[in-house]
Amino acid sequence: MRVVIVGAGLAGLFTASELTRAGIEDVVVVDKEHEPGGVAQTVRRDGFSLESAVGTFMLPHPHLSQILDRIGVDVIRAEPSAALRYVYARDRLIPLPPTPKALLAPIVSIGAKLRALAEPLVKVGPSSEDESLDHFCRRRFGDRMGKMLAWLAASGVFAGDPQRLSARSAFPALTTLEKKAGSVVRGGLQQRRRRPADVARPSSHLPVGGMGALVQAAASLLGDRFRGGFDVASVLHDGSGWRVEGLEAIRADHVVLAVRPQAAAALVDPDLGAALAGAVSAPVVVVGLGGTSDQLPLPPGFGVLTGPDSGTASLGVLFESSYAPARAPQGHALAKVIAGGARKPEVVDWDDARIIEIISSEVAQILGTALDPSFVEIIRHHAGIPQYEIGHSAWLSELDALLGDRPGLHLTGWGYRGVGIAHIASDAVAVANRIVGGRHV
Ligand SMILES: Cc1cc2nc3c(=O)[nH]c(=O)nc-3n(C[C@H](O)[C@H](O)[C@H](O)COP(=O)(O)OP(=O)(O)OC[C@H]3O[C@@H](n4cnc5c(N)ncnc54)[C@H](O)[C@@H]3O)c2cc1C
Repeated sequence: MRVVIVGAGLAGLFTASELTRAGIEDVVVVDKEHEPGGVAQTVRRDGFSLESAVGTFMLPHPHLSQILDRIGVDVIRAEPSAALRYVYARDRLIPLPPTPKALLAPIVSIGAKLRALAEPLVKVGPSSEDESLDHFCRRRFGDRMGKMLAWLAASGVFAGDPQRLSARSAFPALTTLEKKAGSVVRGGLQQRRRRPADVARPSSHLPVGGMGALVQAAASLLGDRFRGGFDVASVLHDGSGWRVEGLEAIRADHVVLAVRPQAAAALVDPDLGAALAGAVSAPVVVVGLGGTSDQLPLPPGFGVLTGPDSGTASLGVLFESSYAPARAPQGHALAKVIAGGARKPEVVDWDDARIIEIISSEVAQILGTALDPSFVEIIRHHAGIPQYEIGHSAWLSELDALLGDRPGLHLTGWGYRGVGIAHIASDAVAVANRIVGGRHV
């Protein structure tokens, strides 16, 4: 049985790894770029290592741990200070320690906190089956705390707009807690109590050598079954199987489209293509700022998210060298700023000079210190981060129904069932199981 995977981003590479683990050897992964990895690349210059997209992930995770083990990449824990996060609100950098003391952090007024503490008593159910993240959080935690939480969650994971993101599609863990326990807080505490004492709590990890090393390790397992510079033009049903047309034509029993939905739309038949074209994403810009520790004084911790009153183009700043010292030379610091997103999509079209001027001055304001970075790197993600807006789960059901009529065709990647790489790993396992389960079809 031959499987062709279109797209050698992490989704394509993880799916290939799972298929070969299941004993399917005839797996070919093609990508229009010559190098694998998709958006996940490590940019190295002047001793700095900047991750263009994902830089850390939580381990252990049942599927991601299994895939990383098989790929054989070394991972290390981030510095313990990574548990410390900050919010920039009310013109201040406010630490949120990983302890109940975070409840005392002045990110909202005392009145707003008292209302939030009453969350377990809230009886009002969802306003609709598919409510916005903003509405969900305000309903549960009150207007002011709810607005803050929804904003931070939307920014931190999706660079998204909390009023447009769907609570149940973007943060299913939250809505499930409410459904099961009648309260997010009560459900969370119950989950904590049920966790066996000998199971390690997930913590931030990173690959030794960066995401670039992880990607290379995954691609090297494929050898010449990874075909770069192979821009697929169409994937069409052909008799009993599928025909992938690009640099050449390849016949396959199964095709996994591990490209964004908007890219997949251009490859498939018009009905499925029209549905896929309905996907939404938000462009972001990653700005790396580096320098000596005097030029760029970074606090300990993982990073800071900007609150709804900040008005900044910067959604967050990751303190790269604080939690991953190898990402900057000795005595130096590296910050990774994520800017733009659904609320300020125009940032991606600013010229370099404007990005550097505005982002540097915002970071100085957020950190409350003067900056004089000697290293600057700008990465524009025009295609952006997928947005799971209201209607996303109905869209997934529509796609499932269309795929039901197209046996052997599969969709995976961050456009569908989770934007983090742990979700991608889980989906890779699910797709591989479907293919292996239907092996004799
Ligand atoms: C700024 C930023 C920060 C992030 N931070 C985190 C984080 O901290 N933790 C986390 O877990 N995740 C994070 N992510 C998300 C993570 O990077 C993505 O989930 C993951 O890299 C997406 O992989 P993918 O394979 O689904 O898609 P992609 O990387 O987009 O790969 C798709 C591939 O398909 C190829 N392709 C497209 N069209 C064709 C065609 N016609 N023919 C052949 N090939 C084609 C492309 O060239 C590309 O290589 C972040 C993302 C961004 C942008």
